[in-house]
Amino acid sequence: MMKQKVLFAAAEAAPFYKTGGLGDVAYALPKYLAQSGVDVRVVVPYYTKLFPKQYKTGLEDVISFQIDIPYRGLVYCGIKKYKLNDVNYYFIDNEEFFGRDNLYGYWDDGERFAFFQLAICRMMEVINFIPDVVHINDWHTAFVPVLLRDKFHWIEKYKGIKTLLTIHNLQFQGIFDPVILDTLFGMGWNSYTDDGAKFYDQINFLKGGINFADAVNTVSPSYAREIQTPEFGEQLDGVLRKNSWKLSGIINGIDSELYNPETDIQIKANYNAADLSGKAIDKSELQAELGLPVENVPLYGVVSRLTTQKGMDLFLDTLDDFLSRHKAQVVVLGTGDPELERRFEYYQNKYPNQLVAQMKFDIGLAQRIYAGSDVFVMPSAFEPSGLSQMMAMRYGTLPLVHAVGGLRDTVIPYNELDKTGTGFTFDDYRSNVLGEILSYSFRTYDERQTDWKALQQQAMERDFDWSNSAQDYLNLYDNLAE
Ligand code: ADP
Repeated sequence: MMKQKVLFAAAEAAPFYKTGGLGDVAYALPKYLAQSGVDVRVVVPYYTKLFPKQYKTGLEDVISFQIDIPYRGLVYCGIKKYKLNDVNYYFIDNEEFFGRDNLYGYWDDGERFAFFQLAICRMMEVINFIPDVVHINDWHTAFVPVLLRDKFHWIEKYKGIKTLLTIHNLQFQGIFDPVILDTLFGMGWNSYTDDGAKFYDQINFLKGGINFADAVNTVSPSYAREIQTPEFGEQLDGVLRKNSWKLSGIINGIDSELYNPETDIQIKANYNAADLSGKAIDKSELQAELGLPVENVPLYGVVSRLTTQKGMDLFLDTLDDFLSRHKAQVVVLGTGDPELERRFEYYQNKYPNQLVAQMKFDIGLAQRIYAGSDVFVMPSAFEPSGLSQMMAMRYGTLPLVHAVGGLRDTVIPYNELDKTGTGFTFDDYRSNVLGEILSYSFRTYDERQTDWKALQQQAMERDFDWSNSAQDYLNLYDNLAE
């Protein structure tokens, strides 16, 4: 078989820029695809101010051309290139659009990513890389299939290109005034229909992508099902149901070399599933570091954005009761909603020997929490994939999660009878239910240490490596090419 050619397009890609899960995937997946022999190239914007210094020297100028944005005229588009892990990264350069202090959140995001998508479509011809599959991600690139169909259909070489849209977060859809079809895209109104990109009286990039891409996936099988319901569908559940024939779910992976308790240099003592003695040392170290009493009580860890999506409000609602009734310790690392931060601070003052809340971003401390905790609390309201629960399991820390999306797909609930499981789960999204499962995990730790050890072992033996998920993507590409 011929080498597959894939163009992976996203608004961010680690290690260059990352604000969330999308950036992680845009780093890991292409790397694994390249190892499997795919000619994969990644295209992201060139955020002038955010591009890391250490990569600047290897950056190559490829070419520049102009893009016609009707209401402005011809606009400069530069292409730069950097090779990393056998993957060629292309950077779309336009100072005015991408020379900002942040990646997103500007009044003209619609225009910025309209430009980016036009540039992606033009670039393939300009650099003469005609992929078998264009793999687009989230709303910033979701309109590419619409452009290929309604604006660039006359380019003969593009005729065989298939498109795959991955939805990492359905909350953000890219909704704009339909006039942009004329003013930014210069492409006519064919897609402005209910089964195209029209969303009420507006244009919805993501909806256009869902309707026009050859295949759509989300980042876990359960989330792929859930978003077809009104509860999780963000008003696109009908569109997703209609397209369910081409919709699937592929869970994200973690880098099991990077996240490895046997070799991790961020933690004091290394350990593995056969010998967990190092984990006990890491726990005492963590307790001491946080100023908590160093004693054998269960330690509950949280590393999270402090938002309602992550269920932090629900967790806060249970804290008073949980900490007053049980001799447990809790450490929270995260930043986010100021109101939620304030509530954690309140309980920290009320329970100084039991709760430590650190409102900061600290990768080292995060690692020490994954290693040193007994339970990892992640009661997300919804969770497309989630990585933290997988990291926790890899470190023998049992996740306690709301059974949704990727959490449902990765955490096996504790079964007392046959001693199986990798964590604790609850279904009903209510604080008293979360409270009950917290108490249950406390009792299990207290009264059933043998079971606990068995669960830790099973958790650590699960294989969440990216290579599994990369193989699923390869199969998707193969199916598209047939
Ligand atoms: P999401 O991408 O929705 O925030 P994930 O579970 O997919 O959630 O990934 C979150 C990642 O960010 C994890 O690797 C987690 O360890 C890390 N993280 C979140 N908050 C912090 C923090 N305050 N300090 C260090 N790492 C953090």
